[in-house]
Amino acid sequence: MHGFKTIIEPFRIKSVEPLTLTTREEREARLEDAGFNLFKLRSQDVLIDLLTDSGTGAMSAEQWASLQRGDESYAGSPSFFRFEAAVKALFPFRHVIPTHQGRAAEKILFSVVGGPGKVVPSNTLFDTTRANVEYSGARGVDLLPADARVPSKRLPFKGNLDVAALERLIAEVGAAQVPLVLVTVTNNSGGGQPVSLANLHAVSAVCRRHGIPLFLDACRFAENAWFIREREPGQQDRSVTDIVREMASLADGMTMSAKKDGLANIGGWLALNDERWAEQCRNLLILTEGFPTYGGLSGRDLDAIATGLGEVVQHDYLRYRIRSTEYLGEALERRGVPIVLPVGGHAVYLDAAALLPHVPALQYPGQALAVELYREGGVRSCEIGSVMFGLRPDGTEAPAAMELVRLAMPRRTYTQSHVDYVVEVVERVAARANAIQGLRIAEQPRALRHFTARFAPWRQSAVAECAA
Ligand SMILES: *Cc1c(COP(=O)(O)O)cnc(C)c1O
Repeated sequence: MHGFKTIIEPFRIKSVEPLTLTTREEREARLEDAGFNLFKLRSQDVLIDLLTDSGTGAMSAEQWASLQRGDESYAGSPSFFRFEAAVKALFPFRHVIPTHQGRAAEKILFSVVGGPGKVVPSNTLFDTTRANVEYSGARGVDLLPADARVPSKRLPFKGNLDVAALERLIAEVGAAQVPLVLVTVTNNSGGGQPVSLANLHAVSAVCRRHGIPLFLDACRFAENAWFIREREPGQQDRSVTDIVREMASLADGMTMSAKKDGLANIGGWLALNDERWAEQCRNLLILTEGFPTYGGLSGRDLDAIATGLGEVVQHDYLRYRIRSTEYLGEALERRGVPIVLPVGGHAVYLDAAALLPHVPALQYPGQALAVELYREGGVRSCEIGSVMFGLRPDGTEAPAAMELVRLAMPRRTYTQSHVDYVVEVVERVAARANAIQGLRIAEQPRALRHFTARFAPWRQSAVAECAA
């Protein structure tokens, strides 16, 4: 496909799923019913669903064929061995433990290595990861350099962990209190930004010096490797597979959601070298997920993942994948919509704090913007800001570092005209940004509140307070 300006979707469509069009009035009603929480919408009421890229991608014909090959034996299924071989071809860790999704791997891992007094440093812990670290009683510490927190700063590897800060943290708490360092590739919460090989080498060196294992939260390992190939000096002639293996060689283990770069609709795994930890993890696995050769998955799921892992590292796929996300970002940038720069691999992040400067952080500008994108055009997105990160374990609230709205791109699912439509919706909302009001929380749980909280317009609460 070289020599052409247009980077096409490297697939054609064999099976179609109709989209439902709704009226503005219908969407208003659905928003009220959902308590202005887009997680509570029915997906048929959504036109373009950019809530997440997790498990929402389209499988290939080969993956559908793999489902038929799936063997549902309780123990020792050939599907498991195909899955294990596909994982080890990229990540040759000694133990590969399947789980029903990424968070199950996290729960098991941190039940074994976490606990009160422990500290888990990261570039940025993803929301379920942080929740699992904290649930064990441990503390998660995000170590992103100050530059990486500025949405408008265009840096090639904005997911890099701050190595000097890691050294300081280890000196402060003591290496014995740090069970592992977890690097998220790409950094989802910080903007879908890649981590460089150089940074992984530096972090790995610090970890080895202190005898601390390095783990990867590898959900988007292929996208990260593609960025390394495109952006890091000296990497241009390497295959993505080769780069992934080098990333793996620097680590001692990984957690993974196959719903991302597994190109599957469900699944995940925990992989690690340490014998003793692996044994403890397998014991917990049996308690909550299942026997170690299926871990909460059916044989056919394991086969779909095995095939997906072969497809996700293909260069034609990754070139299209990264370019289609960048296409959305460039179109928004040209229209003056503030976004996190540079555009990440799986999502475009709108900078809600910049677009709605009149809405204070604890009136949730990201949530308010996400609600408007749905109201305007049936586009579902996800707040990544003070709703997601603002509630502390002790019940107090503090603004998040950034107020973002994530437009996540499902893999191999939407076409360029779908993306053009999304651009138009965002443009219309941005044009009336200064009339958009904030929200308040009407109801919320103690953790992971963004999934279930109910909101109300801020204005209404002011009126209610005056009346009281
Ligand atoms: C999705 C995700 C997880 C959790 O995986 P699930 O399969 O959703 O449980 C963990 N870390 C990162 C970076 C993710 O994107």
